[in-house]
Amino acid sequence: MMRLMPELPEVEAVRRRLEPAMRGARIKHVLLMRKNLRRPFPRAFAARLEGRRINSVDRRGKYLLVALDSGHTLLMHLGMSGSFRISRGAKRQTSTAEAARDLHDHVVFTLSNGVTVTFNDPRRFGVMDLVGEGLASHQAFAAMGPEPLEASFDADRLARALTGKRVALKVALLDQRVVAGLGNIYASEALHLAGLSPRRRSSTLATAAARPAAIAVRLAAAVKTVLRQAIARRERPYRGGRFRVYDREGEPCGTPGCGGTIRRISQAGRSTFYCPACQR
Ligand SMILES: [Zn+2]
Repeated sequence: MMRLMPELPEVEAVRRRLEPAMRGARIKHVLLMRKNLRRPFPRAFAARLEGRRINSVDRRGKYLLVALDSGHTLLMHLGMSGSFRISRGAKRQTSTAEAARDLHDHVVFTLSNGVTVTFNDPRRFGVMDLVGEGLASHQAFAAMGPEPLEASFDADRLARALTGKRVALKVALLDQRVVAGLGNIYASEALHLAGLSPRRRSSTLATAAARPAAIAVRLAAAVKTVLRQAIARRERPYRGGRFRVYDREGEPCGTPGCGGTIRRISQAGRSTFYCPACQR
């Protein structure tokens, strides 16, 4: 079984679950079960969260951003295996709740509205940080590219980012400076929908004058489509059956009239799935 890391649609699905549970509530208590996830929790993490009201729950790339009335933002990343469990009306700190706690529950937020939000992360590659006013200049966001579902991401922007780049197109799409939130799965999916080879040189999406080629228009639209479709699917994430090419090595290509077979190759140490017949 391959490891499937959360990408933009999975993080957005988490955000949509967390927002109604958290927005407007006050953080009553933060229980840290350990000192670190991928990195140590920031200094006085729990104390700086407790008593603060949650103004909004947003997303940027693969990060969740919880804005507090203190002006700080709680920044959270799911890493490889992070997830949140929301329970309502739970009596806090009862022996039953203690017993129900999983070995991989690392952070428990108790909110004023009776909601408990528990962060579980078996591999502990998740991140939690508390950031002040300079959110945009935080190292995670300073160089981050456009949000793919916003109007700021289009063929022009994509072509400008890829102009002169010799790297393979699939590898470029994983670069968060080119576009935010894409990972291994949806980069492969978008390239298949656009009919573009993952091995194609990135610079071919731009003209010599850094204008978008026709295929850049196709790819920008395909990125938006595969992400929107993935978000719209309300199924549990990480089921392989829903993908166009991802995790479908050896299966027939689903493009009407293609007749090709999905192949798996390795690019920059990551698996790429594509159809050599219809992706050029
Ligand atoms: Zn095909």
